[in-house]
Amino acid sequence: MTDKLQDGFCEEIDKKRVRVWTNTTSGGYWTTMSKLRYDKEFDKSKTPFFCPVCKQAMLVDIDKQNYFKYKCCFKCCIFFVEGREERWKTGWRPSEDDMKRYYEWREQKKIFSIDKIEP
Ligand SMILES: [Zn+2]
Repeated sequence: MTDKLQDGFCEEIDKKRVRVWTNTTSGGYWTTMSKLRYDKEFDKSKTPFFCPVCKQAMLVDIDKQNYFKYKCCFKCCIFFVEGREERWKTGWRPSEDDMKRYYEWREQKKIFSIDKIEP
């Protein structure tokens, strides 16, 4: 395995501590911190308001859960990741053309549109 670790990859050291990988152009480095801190601060800051792939707001829990796993929202996950997890994990991301198809698909389906999610 020569795959580079993904930015933000978190690994348990022991019961109280984790280490988090940060990518740099020349490689990367580990940051060690307590689990408490990771849960409280680091993790939250790692869940952006907008999905980095489709730039849509991640409003529902299922989006956030997906973000932890795949760094994208639920909708992107269905379209781009499902069944091709390996490709995604090794850093593949959709091209502009892929995104065009994706937006068309979303437009057609309308099944995940935000206005359908009632509080
Ligand atoms: Zn998305």
